[in-house]
Amino acid sequence: MPHTLQEAIAYFANPDHCFAYAVKLRWPDGKILCPRCGSDRHSFISTRRMWFCKGCKKQFTMKVGTIFEDSPLGMDKWMAAFWLLVNCKNGISSYELGRDLGVTQRTAWFMLHRIRLALQQGSIKKMSGEIEVDETFMGGKSRNMHLSKRRAKITGTGFKDKTAVLGFLRRGGEIRAEVVSSTKRKALVPHIERHVEEGSALYTDALASYDGLAAKYGHQVIDHAIAYVCGRVHTNGLENFWSLLKRTIRGTYVSVEPFHLDRYLDEQMFRFNNRLDKNDGQRFVDAMSQVSGRRITFNQLTGKVDDPRQIN
Ligand SMILES: [Zn+2]
Repeated sequence: MPHTLQEAIAYFANPDHCFAYAVKLRWPDGKILCPRCGSDRHSFISTRRMWFCKGCKKQFTMKVGTIFEDSPLGMDKWMAAFWLLVNCKNGISSYELGRDLGVTQRTAWFMLHRIRLALQQGSIKKMSGEIEVDETFMGGKSRNMHLSKRRAKITGTGFKDKTAVLGFLRRGGEIRAEVVSSTKRKALVPHIERHVEEGSALYTDALASYDGLAAKYGHQVIDHAIAYVCGRVHTNGLENFWSLLKRTIRGTYVSVEPFHLDRYLDEQMFRFNNRLDKNDGQRFVDAMSQVSGRRITFNQLTGKVDDPRQIN
């Protein structure tokens, strides 16, 4: 098992290593099953690194039924791309990745989005304990706008050209963040109820949209006009995550379409939730173990057909 980028590149440069390793991650219990019919009766065609299924009489590769399906790229390139995205603290742009792997920027862009799909969290079990809840705005170019136009666009609950994001942080644990339609009360409360167990301690800022949460939660408010911390009442954990997220998006990705923002959130959440107690190799294994059962086509990614996301 490689521990560093250099070891990983050397290891995955050997196609036999790479294939054996990918197969082990794809079928961790060692039982290779046909992804189409589930049959375990098959023969291996070693020259082509694929199987012939005796059940459905079709051939399959380790890529079928995973985010790699239909990709002509070798697993060595996929493995290196995974390693870079999960371990570079501020992400990696499609331009950088394209240069590193010797593929076009467009190919690298598609690879990175497929990898982000694998990084998407599976569990939506409610969070409990001490939870920070906070909202922020992403994107937008209002800074570069003429003042009169900027005034017209900026409204009481946010910026019309920006995307609102709501975050949840369990103190000392997991982070979750998702795009929300606005920061109005009716948009935020259903998200809070879906993610946080009733009776949990909830810390928010003084945004009026959070009024009324005390009926279900131990809700305490920090009014940022007065102070940022009052004992345990603060949202500094989430503020830290927002600044990491904004640094990544501004510094690495430069601009992100609101349409794709969820995927960049998935990427940043994965790194944040796996930053402690894990080395680069373990983060890589965890990400690679989620490649099955997830697929996205170029048309889905670019909005030409419906997106298969299951979690909002
Ligand atoms: Zn089959």
